[in-house]
Amino acid sequence: MSVPLIVTPEHQTVVPSGKTVIFRPFLVKEEKLMLTIKENQRTDEVMRVMKQVVSNCVIDDKFDVDKISYNDLEHLFIMMRARSVGETVEFPFSCKECDYEGMIDIDITKIQLSRPVPEDDSVMLNESVGVKVKPVGVKGMAHLAKVADTDPLSMLNHVIDYVYNKEQMWKIDDMSQKEITDFVETLSLTQVQKIMGKVEEFPRCCIKDNVTCPSCQKEQEINVEGLENFFT
Ligand SMILES: [Zn+2]
Repeated sequence: MSVPLIVTPEHQTVVPSGKTVIFRPFLVKEEKLMLTIKENQRTDEVMRVMKQVVSNCVIDDKFDVDKISYNDLEHLFIMMRARSVGETVEFPFSCKECDYEGMIDIDITKIQLSRPVPEDDSVMLNESVGVKVKPVGVKGMAHLAKVADTDPLSMLNHVIDYVYNKEQMWKIDDMSQKEITDFVETLSLTQVQKIMGKVEEFPRCCIKDNVTCPSCQKEQEINVEGLENFFT
C-alpha cells in the first residue's frame, strides 16, 4: 500500500482585477522555496520565487502568472500566507500619539487597493496622438527589477497598452520591437514623465488595519505597502 497523501484545503479570494481565484495554502515545498530567498534578497530573486509559489498554489490549469497584474500577484501571495501561516504578522510600529515604538500585530487579510483606479487612463502626447496606459503586470515588474538603473525607458513597453490617433489604434503587444523602439525614441522627456505620472495614479496593494497602541491605548491606522516586508 502506498503512503496516504494529505488532502489540502482549498480557499478562494477575489483579486484586485475582480476575478475569483481558488488556491491552496503553502506546503512544505513552498516554504522551502521561500527559505532560499531569506538570505538572498535581490528583488529579481524575490519576484522569481513569489511567482513560482503563487503559480504552484493557484488551482486552475489555465492560470498564467506572467499574464496577471502585479497587484493580483501581491494579493494572492498575501492571502496564501494568511491561510497557510496565519492572518496576523508582526510589524514595526511607532505611535503618532506617544513615543511608543515596538512590534504590533496586523491582520494581513485587510489587504486592499490604496486608492480607486483612475477613471481616465489615457495620456495625450500632442494634439492628435495619445497612449492608453495600463497597470504594471508581473512581467513588467520583473523587468523593472532588472533594469531600473540601467534602462528605465524600456519600462514603457510594459505600461503602454496602446497608441492611438483619431483614425486608428496600435496595441503594443502586436507591435514589433523595432516599431516600439522607434516610437519610444521620438518621445520627449516631458512626454515620458506624463506617461509615468499616469502610471503612478494607479493604486497599489496595501494593508490598512486599525491598531491600538499598547502604551497610550489610542487607536490608529497602520498602512503597509510592499511585499518585501513579508520576507524579512
Ligand atoms: Zn501611543
